[in-house]
Amino acid sequence: MKALITGGAGFIGSHLAESLLADGHEVIIVDDLSTGSMRNIAGIVGHKSLQFVLDDVRNAGTMNVLVEKCDIIYHLAAAVGVQLIVDEPVRTIETNIHGTEVVLEMANKYRKKIVIASTSEVYGKSERVPFCEDDDTVLGSTRFSRWSYACSKAIDEFLGLAYYHQYDLPVIIVRFFNTVGPRQTGQYGMVIPRFVEQALKGHKITIYGTGKQCRCFGFVGDAVESVRRLAVSPTAPGRVYNVGSTNEISIEGLADKVLAMTGSKAGKEFISYEQAYGRDFDDMMRRVPCVERLRNQINYVPETDLDEILRLVVAEKKEGLGK
Ligand code: UDP
Repeated sequence: MKALITGGAGFIGSHLAESLLADGHEVIIVDDLSTGSMRNIAGIVGHKSLQFVLDDVRNAGTMNVLVEKCDIIYHLAAAVGVQLIVDEPVRTIETNIHGTEVVLEMANKYRKKIVIASTSEVYGKSERVPFCEDDDTVLGSTRFSRWSYACSKAIDEFLGLAYYHQYDLPVIIVRFFNTVGPRQTGQYGMVIPRFVEQALKGHKITIYGTGKQCRCFGFVGDAVESVRRLAVSPTAPGRVYNVGSTNEISIEGLADKVLAMTGSKAGKEFISYEQAYGRDFDDMMRRVPCVERLRNQINYVPETDLDEILRLVVAEKKEGLGK
């Protein structure tokens, strides 16, 4: 099986590539290294079954060649991360919508199965607990660029499902909830790498807002396993699947855990969203996935606990800092 992974040098993409190669598959990665990096794929570059292509998924010429060559596409290339979205909203919208348009057009031209990465952001600020795949999306005002990300990924989902319904293209949509683990960078806003790096450097941990907002953090290895099982499940196409953990923790609780695990005495600092993002910001208090559809489809749900994930992230960041 030859898999094309767009965004394969990114956080989730690189773990997926590694997992497929380890099981004897061939992998083509296309990545423009805008948020991904060669560091993420350092362990697999040079592998005889890996081809790396440095390009933007919006380049239709390149995608035409690569999609023709592969058996399945994992479309993970996207602009992600709350900080990046706030800082570069034009890039977010254009990359996410146009990139998916090009990849889907090629997938349809060559009739290739495609798994499209989406996000729990599409539920927006709905207050339902848990979020089920067919729930309404509740997006905030266009004044907040955060919702442009949600909206751009919702368009990707609409387009993917439209190809499924109109052209019978096998399209599977995966909504990742907060997915974490080694190789995730804090540069684009993600909380766990930021907290761990702050603690290890002896800096105060910066909690945005009250710290009472909660998230469920799922392990990247479990997300990869879920995606791979969905990809080979004959009845998966045409639907959306939540992928994530259901274990909830508050952001202040997370900060305490990180401080305890790193032995840091640096402490915590509460800062407003305005200070954090340079403008006002719409955050959601809770975000819990319903994973029953996933469980029924693939007989598996993410289960690695947060302590185990944090141990891996702390070990990786310590090594990076030469500690
Ligand atoms: N957060 C924080 N400090 C940081 C980065 C993030 O308190 O340095 C908060 C953020 O406001 C959100 C939660 O942590 O409530 C998770 O943020 P992340 O960007 O990782 O994911 P999100 O769930 O917002 O997509």
